Amino acid sequence: MNLILLGPPGAGKGTQAKRLEVAHGIAQVSTGDMLRAEVAAGSEIGVRAKTIMESGALVPDALIISMLAARVRQPDCARGFILDGFPRTVPQAQALDDMLGSMGIALDSVIELQVDDTALVERIAGRFTCAKCGTGYHDAFHPTRAAGVCDVCGSHDFVRRADDRRETVSARLQAYHTQTAPILPHYAGQGRLHTVDGMADMGAVADAIGAILKRLPEKARVATN
Ligand code: ADP
Ligand code: ADP
Ligand code: ZN
Repeated sequence: MNLILLGPPGAGKGTQAKRLEVAHGIAQVSTGDMLRAEVAAGSEIGVRAKTIMESGALVPDALIISMLAARVRQPDCARGFILDGFPRTVPQAQALDDMLGSMGIALDSVIELQVDDTALVERIAGRFTCAKCGTGYHDAFHPTRAAGVCDVCGSHDFVRRADDRRETVSARLQAYHTQTAPILPHYAGQGRLHTVDGMADMGAVADAIGAILKRLPEKARVATN
């Protein structure tokens, strides 16, 4: 099963992609995580992407498309994948269609998480992640059970993203509305677009996504088992 999770920054794409990865044994492919790893490694891509990401703008299509093309060809994507944060522009969506077409892979569903801009600002400002295992948290909506201790791995180290400052959020939301939202009609025209109320709590959003996946044609679901 091959899915795209679409939605503005902070909509819950990463949160839901991680759940789908566990539930269906398919790979989460987060272009944001891949870019942050390049930045941390100080690679050529990382050096080019760092200041762009910190400003809240999108990195160039050519760079991200070649990175994604290599990623979906890796063995862990053979059983299926969830694209989280890609595509983000019309040229990226077109490149993905061509890429999957040439690989003989079908896209099963595109799920859009809809969340109001005001709620997104709160979600992004409160977001933090375990530095050791990558589990995502939120100061108000998903705190750790014991203060300062990761629920999953017990680590005491947490990170906040450099671009999750309130000052950068409006640039990122604007990039979403002007550059990413125009891809919604692309997938609606293909009959693949499903919209979920992302304002609901995490469990309710997961249930709504699960209901959409249950209604997919048999072929897509069999591929997940
Ligand atoms: P969020 O989860 O808040 O939506 P991401 O982690 O997906 O953010 O992305 C962080 C930043 O990485 C983006 O603001 C952008 O600069 C860059 N980025 C990630 N994916 C893409 C992409 N598909 N195209 C262009 N830039 C991207
Ligand atoms: P995205 O990958 O779309 O940028 P995340 O999955 O990182 O979004 O979620 C952004 C923040 O909001 C995180 O701190 C996460 O814990 C929190 N969050 C995710 N889904 C919900 C939800 N349905 N309700 C409240 N908070 C949420
Ligand atoms: Zn942890």
